[in-house]
Amino acid sequence: MIGVCVLGSTGSIGRSTLDVLARHPDRYRVISLAARSDVAGLAQQCLQFRPARAALADPVAARELAQQLRTEGCSTEVLSGPEALAELARDSDAAVVMAAISGAAGLPSTLAAAQAGKRLLIANKESVVMAGALLLDAVRRSGAELIPIDSEHNAIFQCLPPVWQVGQRSAGVRRLLLTASGGPFLDWPAAAIGTATPEQAVAHPRWSMGAKISVDSASLMNKGLELIEAAVLFGMPPDDIEVLIHPESVVHSLVEFVDGSTLAQLGSPDMRTPIAQALAWPERIPAGVEFLDLLKAGQLNFRAPDLERFPALALARAAAQAGGLASVWLNAADEVAVEAFLAKRLNFGDIPAVIADVMDQFSGGQSQDLAAVLAADAEARARAVQGIAAPHRLYRLGGRAP
Ligand code: NDP
Ligand code: MG
Repeated sequence: MIGVCVLGSTGSIGRSTLDVLARHPDRYRVISLAARSDVAGLAQQCLQFRPARAALADPVAARELAQQLRTEGCSTEVLSGPEALAELARDSDAAVVMAAISGAAGLPSTLAAAQAGKRLLIANKESVVMAGALLLDAVRRSGAELIPIDSEHNAIFQCLPPVWQVGQRSAGVRRLLLTASGGPFLDWPAAAIGTATPEQAVAHPRWSMGAKISVDSASLMNKGLELIEAAVLFGMPPDDIEVLIHPESVVHSLVEFVDGSTLAQLGSPDMRTPIAQALAWPERIPAGVEFLDLLKAGQLNFRAPDLERFPALALARAAAQAGGLASVWLNAADEVAVEAFLAKRLNFGDIPAVIADVMDQFSGGQSQDLAAVLAADAEARARAVQGIAAPHRLYRLGGRAP
């Protein structure tokens, strides 16, 4: 039996992970579950999977959960506070950790799992973007196994030879081609994109995901973060990573080799495939996913991204090229801007304008340790808040006052 810790279990990836695990009770045992504040969701999962421990980052919610589980006669021990998540990630009973918390909040627990030598299934792309070098260093020192869950990176992982090691450019690889669905605004004119509502932004045409990543998909910032993630995980310079718009979301990414071969991974747009692949690798297990019907798909289309209507992608590429703490600043500014947009305090078209304003103030620096990363994250967040409060600064990239 393989013990599994699921961080972010109440979210979209967390629920898909538990769905796959529930199909293989003979192979996997859920050791621990963690989330932020969703008492009802975590209580239901505890009753179904009976983990030894569960944690909520919000202490008030954790008390409520403990109470509820006692009433239901469930013996799961409840931990509380952000540091409890890292404790669960280190638990020696869990050989596998699914890092599926959204945003920068996932970094400490993801890093803890890497330091503890786990098989680390990494969905939390923000921790790769913010602290890639630290994460890879921890993986190398501890002998952890890092397997990407993000569908594009998992696709690339599947196309690389088994001898590939995380963080290193695989011999013979010429380019990586990341596919993007293009999101809900793919064919919208710039003016309509500028004033799109949160409801329109989270209505993704192909994938069902959490709110933050859905908004990022609509602005193409998700692809920008993924470009940085791919550069880190696969040891590639950003210039050797291309983005292709592929509205059908059937080809999840491609690897071009020096001999002229291009390998791709295809499948239905369902995250249970990369989750099952990473759980069982190098074996394969059923994931409950609908099999791909290429006759039904009919046509597969590809086109270049439009950087004028989707400037976030260019901002991310520039941050990837700048290196150091630039991607920490980019990620922090994006998180603040997306949160303001979801709260209807910012226009959709101002999201890249806020990020551009913050990146204009980027003062350099290296991510030598976690403290440096967290300090840069805090500084960039403060500047993003200032930018949102002073809309006259959001003149770039077509930004307007809210
Ligand atoms: P969701 O918003 O659906 O879920 C987020 C999860 O993280 C929830 O369990 C939430 O708990 C928890 N969480 C959020 N903030 C905190 C915090 N401060 N402390 C502890 N737990 C917290 O996100 P997704 O599942 O969509 O995405 C998760 C990660 O996976 C993201 O990094 C995303 O970029 C990545 N990813 C997602 C894909 C997808 O298809 N959804 C595809 C590729 C990558 P609670 O419910 O209590 O708030
Ligand atoms: Mg992805």
